[in-house]
Formats: sequence, structure tokens, C-alpha cells
Amino acid sequence: MPLPSNLQVIERGWLSANQVYLWSDNFLDVIDSGFCTHQSQTIELLNLKMQVLTDRTPRFLINTHLHSDHCGGNAALINDFNFKLLVPSAEFDAVQDWNEPLLGFSELGQPCPVFSAFGTYQPNTVITLGNLDWEIHQAPGHEDQAQLLFNPEYKILISGDALWEKGFGALFPNNEGVPNIDGAFATLELIAEIEPNIVIPGHGSIFNDVSQALIFAHDRLAYLRKNPDRNLIHVVNVLLKFKLLEWQQCSQEIALDWFKNTPMLQKIAELLNQPIHDLFQQSLNALVKSNAIKIRMQTLFNA
Ligand SMILES: [Zn+2]
Repeated sequence: MPLPSNLQVIERGWLSANQVYLWSDNFLDVIDSGFCTHQSQTIELLNLKMQVLTDRTPRFLINTHLHSDHCGGNAALINDFNFKLLVPSAEFDAVQDWNEPLLGFSELGQPCPVFSAFGTYQPNTVITLGNLDWEIHQAPGHEDQAQLLFNPEYKILISGDALWEKGFGALFPNNEGVPNIDGAFATLELIAEIEPNIVIPGHGSIFNDVSQALIFAHDRLAYLRKNPDRNLIHVVNVLLKFKLLEWQQCSQEIALDWFKNTPMLQKIAELLNQPIHDLFQQSLNALVKSNAIKIRMQTLFNA
């Protein structure tokens, strides 16, 4: 089934999450806003759309969840287009107070320009974006306050990082050092129950073979549950690769300095009972081996 004509997916990449534009005769709504270093591109893309969609007023900006690659363009979009930002209801106070420990950007060693919300959207309600109705479902696991948006008419799921074609977003250990694997399983079950025909993921292309994606994700989760250390090492690799996506290149010394000063990485080194320098070296080796980065003359390059 094709996508409805008043919906457009902007496939961005792995540093900036995908965006969705939804419009009616009067309004344009946007889901997610990318990473902050891409904000001029985020604005340019929207300006291009606004040239086609004359007479529409920018209305709601929604975040599937508050990770820096999904909400890093919020401040710019609110400033330039006057969007009214709606965040998952449980995150509203943390956003308004800019409560860093709760929002967790610096815990992951990532920047995110300060923004404030206009209001919230709630799980187990329906919200109209563009000219389509979307059911809101809580999607714990990768981010416990993340929300899925599901349109029953076209059976479209906007999954954020809860389900990709091959996997899902990293499962970060909480303050007790435990990732929410049960939550991630429950989210997969929920997706299986609502039976989407089309998934618009937070990263990667739109896909239709939802049962295959669910099987893949289920197997991966089962593997991570059995191998908790593998999960922690995966989180480390994801964070270091993401930093290289942001910086593109940097000296090994600066990367190590960032690594040592990132609370999530300190926590994981402790959980694995490893000196943080060794963990850094191990992650570098893994990323070089998988061709995710290259090292030349003590300089790291994104690959
Ligand atoms: Zn995420």
C-alpha cells in the first residue's frame, strides 16, 4: 500500500533521525528534528517543503523520544518556524526545567541545544497530525518514555528507535546497571498486536516486512538477554561511532578524553570491571574491524 499523499518521510541517516512531514489544507506538522549539527540542513529541507505547501501554517512538532538525534533540531525549528513542540507527557517537566540528569544528553556525551515544549501528548490517546489520526502507544526499552504513533486507517507505524528493519536502538543500562529488556520485548509484542503494514523507522528506509523485522529484533533481544556484557559493549560501540559521526574525525587523544568523561561510558567500564582506557581501546578495535571507523596517524576518521 502506498503512503498517503499528505505524508512525506525525509530519510536522514544515522546522525540525524528520519523526519515525517504531515499536512492538511491548513497546517503542517513535523515528527522529529534531527541532530543539532545538521540543523541548517533541517531548516533548509523544511523551507523547500514550505515553498510547495503554500498557505500551510507550521503547527505541531512532535518528538518520538528525547534523544539528541531526534530532538537536536527542536530549538532551531521552534525559533525559525514557530512550531508548537509536543513531547511525551512524562518528559514535560524535565524539558521545561532542562533537567540534564533526567534528560540524559550529557550522560551519553552528546550535545543538544536547550528547547522548551508547548505541551504534551499522552499514551493511549489519539492525536491528529496533518489530516491523519494517530494512536499513541508507550514503547519502553530503548527509551522508556518513547512513544509509537500508529495510524489504523493505513496501518502505518512510526516506530522511532523501538523497531528498525534490522534491530532497534541500543539498550542503555539504567542507574542500577540494568537495561530494560523486558520493556523492549513488551514493545515488540505490542507492535505484533497492532499489525502495521508499513513501518517508518527512526533510521533507515521504510519497510513492509514487519514480521521479518519482529523476528530479527526478537532474536537479537533474546541474544542480548543471555549475553548482558555483549549488550554493554554494543552500547559502548554505538556511542563511540555516533561521536565519530558527529565529529567526522578527531585525534585519538581527544576521543579518549571524551570517552573518559562520558558518564554512561564510566558506568559501563565499572559494570564490566574494566579500566576505561582498555574499554576505549577494545571499542576502537571493534569499530576498525567492522569498518565503522579508520585510524591513521593517531587520528580517528568516521568511515
Ligand atoms: Zn533513540
